[in-house]
Amino acid sequence: MAKIGINIVTGSLQQAELIVGIDLGTTNSLVAIIHPDTKKPIALKEHDSSSLVPSIVHFDSYGNASVGEVAKQYLETEPQNTIFSAKRLMGKSYNDVKKNANFFTYKVIDDNTESLVKVQVGNQFFSPIELSSFILKELKQRAEHIMKTPVTKAVITVPAYFNDAQRQATRDAGKLAGLDVLRIVNEPTAASLAYGLGLRADEEKTIAVYDLGGGTFDVSILRITNGIFEVLSTNGDTYLGGDDFDRLIIQYWLQQNGLSEEVLHNNKQLSQTIRLIAEDAKKQLSNLSITNYELPITNDDVRFSLHDSLLAKFNFQLSTADFNKLIQPLIDRTITSCSDALKDAGLTTADVDTIVMVGGSTRVPAVKNAVSNFFGKPVNDTVNPDEVVALGAAVQADILAGNNKDFLLLDITPLSLGLETMGGLMDVLIPRNSKIPTKVGRQYTTYVDGQGSMRISVFQGERDMVKDNRKLAEFNLTGIPGMPAGLPKVEVNFLINADGILVVTAKELRSGVQQSIEVKPQYGLSDDQVEKMLMDSITHAKDDIQTRALVEARTEGEQLLGVTEKFLTKNAGLITQEEMIVTAQAMQALQLALTMEDKNLIQAKTEELNEVTRPFAERAMDAAINTAMKGQNILGN
Ligand code: ADP
Ligand code: MG
Repeated sequence: MAKIGINIVTGSLQQAELIVGIDLGTTNSLVAIIHPDTKKPIALKEHDSSSLVPSIVHFDSYGNASVGEVAKQYLETEPQNTIFSAKRLMGKSYNDVKKNANFFTYKVIDDNTESLVKVQVGNQFFSPIELSSFILKELKQRAEHIMKTPVTKAVITVPAYFNDAQRQATRDAGKLAGLDVLRIVNEPTAASLAYGLGLRADEEKTIAVYDLGGGTFDVSILRITNGIFEVLSTNGDTYLGGDDFDRLIIQYWLQQNGLSEEVLHNNKQLSQTIRLIAEDAKKQLSNLSITNYELPITNDDVRFSLHDSLLAKFNFQLSTADFNKLIQPLIDRTITSCSDALKDAGLTTADVDTIVMVGGSTRVPAVKNAVSNFFGKPVNDTVNPDEVVALGAAVQADILAGNNKDFLLLDITPLSLGLETMGGLMDVLIPRNSKIPTKVGRQYTTYVDGQGSMRISVFQGERDMVKDNRKLAEFNLTGIPGMPAGLPKVEVNFLINADGILVVTAKELRSGVQQSIEVKPQYGLSDDQVEKMLMDSITHAKDDIQTRALVEARTEGEQLLGVTEKFLTKNAGLITQEEMIVTAQAMQALQLALTMEDKNLIQAKTEELNEVTRPFAERAMDAAINTAMKGQNILGN
């Protein structure tokens, strides 16, 4: 592959185009740009409000979505319609999240499947991608409103530990919001860029990025050489953050006032108010000059909400000393993670040159002190910790826009490369703008019992349906031994070598059968054509994502029908007449829904059939386990 000038790759032939940087956070999100005059990154905000947009989506009774501060007000009072932490669900199946199912106060569809998780609000079903797209749309609008120009291109950040599926989901969310996602950047990398780290080619440094947000904690050890960031290790706790500080404060106050947690369970409005007061107290105490918090009675909102409740005489006091005592065990846990991260990277604290603080919760002085003590040097905290990631994303965006002339002329893939999966969908393995050489692997399986071969069709392009992309190659992996559907494990690897040649290899792991093919992805493709393909993908983003959702819902529905049919013939003995009738009805309803173009209907009917069959699926499982145990006994005797 030839060296490709970055502005051609991004499809941005006009000069001085605005590309925004977006931190799509678990708790808060925000958008930043490089200021056209000062050339410094700034976070965008309306007037004197905050740059932070709470990552919360609320749906009213008509199904209309609102995002941010407005939505946050419904967190406790309308938990079923108020979706927070959608980022935790990105690229996940229900199996991945069921361990923490209690965390979500809204309905996460618990079909016991491997497919991507969905959220139900009223009679609508949303993928985490759609939910995130609402937040991104809000940020896009904010940027357009402030900058008075259309915004169609963005760099979006993700945690360093995000896997392929989570990164792809984030890209899709951007696309659905009408944004061309030029690059997905690791949050710790973005934070480092905001501090100007890695911008000099001759710089070699080891950086520790400590990120304590609202609900998550992570620490990353990065190594920069020649302007390239490498993640040496990551560690952390995905359920530890500032929200836990707030909870500890609430518990403390209840205790101080001789009240039990029941009080809050029974009064959601009160619970919401106290939660906000606790967070306010915590923030006040981060201000070094304040050592004692007392509820400011000048705050009309608070006084109003507390007015005739039993907590009117509630004592809201908290000293820095008590607060520090409360959170010390949590801080200790983060330090253990830092130590583990260093160990995994094969380093000691002395090897770390720079420590970067990220996340609103690092404003807590006790947190800063603990981190600085552990590493034995002062930390970098001069850039606003809840903006630093977005600011760094803006720096990266500026580089991609080609404004930073002496920076980066990279070998990258100008278009995404992927495979055709069920229903004609494009499954991207190597996203566009990936640096080469690169290698990505993913596992697939069969859909039909005894399926002896699998067609591997390789496509290039940004559209969701392969028919709209460019076909590069196709071959059949044959000789897969007869197995029930879903059992074979076919690993497909995409490798682009330094010359830009793509080698696609498919291997069935149980039997070892293997086949591969070589293609030159850019062969016969002009820059104009690349640009047209990119533009098309943005124009059709909304239709594409809807089609994808429909195809996915259909595939899932069809699979469930197949499985249920098979189950009924095998286990007829375990099912009562009545259950048989209900199941047949649910199957019919699903079959009918599958003939229509309504994704929500298909999902609802799939969910219904799942509910109906769950009890006897469980019974069959028990029966199977019983038989197995009996078998064991016989052997054991
Ligand atoms: P995320 O990365 O999870 O989206 P943020 O980096 O925005 O989260 O951090 C949000 C958390 O930071 C919240 O728990 C909030 O209460 C906390 N926070 C914000 N400002 C302060 C402050 N001044 N002192 C202490 N905690 C703060
Ligand atoms: Mg964050």
